[in-house]
Amino acid sequence: MPADTIFHKILRREIPAQIVYEDDDVLAFKDIHPKATTHLLFIAKKDQDFVSSIDDLTEKTAYVPLLLIRKAQAFAKKYGIDGYQLRFHVGRGGGQEVFYLHLHFLSEQKLAD
Ligand code: 5GP
Repeated sequence: MPADTIFHKILRREIPAQIVYEDDDVLAFKDIHPKATTHLLFIAKKDQDFVSSIDDLTEKTAYVPLLLIRKAQAFAKKYGIDGYQLRFHVGRGGGQEVFYLHLHFLSEQKLAD
């Protein structure tokens, strides 16, 4: 059975999220329990780009974290955020709770409305 996580539900608009950016490849939304002034999560949208965790990357899916990083970089440039942290939590021991690969984007700079 294909994986179905809370982030799949956000992607299908079955549960609400504060979406801040979307294009054909990625969705970015505010973390429900922010650990910084701006705390966003970037996920890949396409089925073929689905990866549950960095721990499950293969040669075929190795491009996905880079896709998320590039989109986060472009987002930061667009919104004038010049200092930020990017994190992947890997596995339960690494604090990963949602098994849909996501990039945490944290900044003490406020996102302009
Ligand atoms: P992880 O620890 O798996 O890397 O991060 C999962 C993140 O997803 C956590 O920071 C958590 O606050 C966030 N999160 C969990 N459930 C929801 C939700 O329903 N909506 C949003 N926007 N964020 C969520």
